[in-house]
Amino acid sequence: MNTVTETDGIREVIIIGSGPAGYTAALYTARAELKPLVFGGAIFVGGALTTTTEVENFPGFPEGVDGPVLMENMRAQAEKFGAEMVDDDIVEVDLTGDIKTVTDAAGTVHRAKTVIVATGSGYRKLNLPSEDELSGRGVSWCATCDGFFFRDRDIVVVGGGDTAMEEATFLTRFARSVTVVHRRSVLRASQVMQNRAFADDKISFAFDSEIAEIKEEDSKLAGVVLRDVLTGKTRDLGVTGLFIAIGHDPRTELFAGQLDLDAAGYLKVASPSTRTNLPGVFGAGDVVDHIYRQAITAAGSGCTAALDAERYLAALTDTKKITDANKSTVTV
Ligand SMILES: Cc1cc2nc3c(=O)[nH]c(=O)nc-3n(C[C@H](O)[C@H](O)[C@H](O)COP(=O)(O)OP(=O)(O)OC[C@H]3O[C@@H](n4cnc5c(N)ncnc54)[C@H](O)[C@@H]3O)c2cc1C
Repeated sequence: MNTVTETDGIREVIIIGSGPAGYTAALYTARAELKPLVFGGAIFVGGALTTTTEVENFPGFPEGVDGPVLMENMRAQAEKFGAEMVDDDIVEVDLTGDIKTVTDAAGTVHRAKTVIVATGSGYRKLNLPSEDELSGRGVSWCATCDGFFFRDRDIVVVGGGDTAMEEATFLTRFARSVTVVHRRSVLRASQVMQNRAFADDKISFAFDSEIAEIKEEDSKLAGVVLRDVLTGKTRDLGVTGLFIAIGHDPRTELFAGQLDLDAAGYLKVASPSTRTNLPGVFGAGDVVDHIYRQAITAAGSGCTAALDAERYLAALTDTKKITDANKSTVTV
């Protein structure tokens, strides 16, 4: 058990998360001279983009940019203006009062007037050998991000919900063929999404099936083995693309009971602002967004959260000035 120590002083802003949302919030609050303290996580510093190679859709990089390089640059830019980075996890929070407290894994309690939550969400995995190693080498969780790299390829999409249908339909723009693999005999997707997928000549379906094995050759995806869940029979599928669309898990366990979450666990904000149900607490990036989930949308909402935090702090200062002025005019 760590010894709990408390830092002196109260910060203007603490940011939890070091993905595009967290680093952008850090840049904006640092340039507003709010001296943000950023907790980036012990293992996952830089967020989801550090697990990919080429990013071709972040504006400003006509030749594309390596995911880890983009994140290092975002970090350096925020640090240049005074953001303080701590590569550690936050393990406990109390966000309910005027002064929020967050406790890091070393047991130190940090206090702030505002907190920006930008903890992202994790893609659900099949948990098969080679799945992680082949990320960006044939295995993907995001058609919008990677579809372009799969021209004229045979692709398999795993999942039966709206996201899987959307990914499959989108991928037909590039792919030669798309096989949707689903564990059940009926899809979970809405009827309109199902109809669109069924009507697409490039899409075929493997129902009652799951991926039993991911094949690898020269550090690239070289096919998958499908297993019929009813008969147990297996068969090879010669694909060079595997898109996994079985859902996401927003990282909100830490905030449950304090911040309002939707049924899927995403942080609820008063859109288009980033305000949560608690004054002084803001949510940004994929921890809020279950629809778009892109680096640029996460960065955009990180900016919004920073501006919301700035305005909240300015209003606090105004209120204090008025209270102080009222006190000084009271005659006894
Ligand atoms: C393989 C892959 C490829 C992708 N390719 C693209 C692409 O080409 N283009 C594109 O636009 N998007 C792409 N995306 C999506 C993009 O990465 C995400 O939309 C984006 O990173 C979300 O940013 P975020 O800041 O909300 O969260 P994340 O990037 O997920 O960052 C969350 C951060 O929170 C931190 N954290 C979590 N819990 C705690 C805690 N308790 N304490 C402290 N820190 C914590 C983590 O360490 C992490 O730093 C890709 C995603 C993946 C996985």
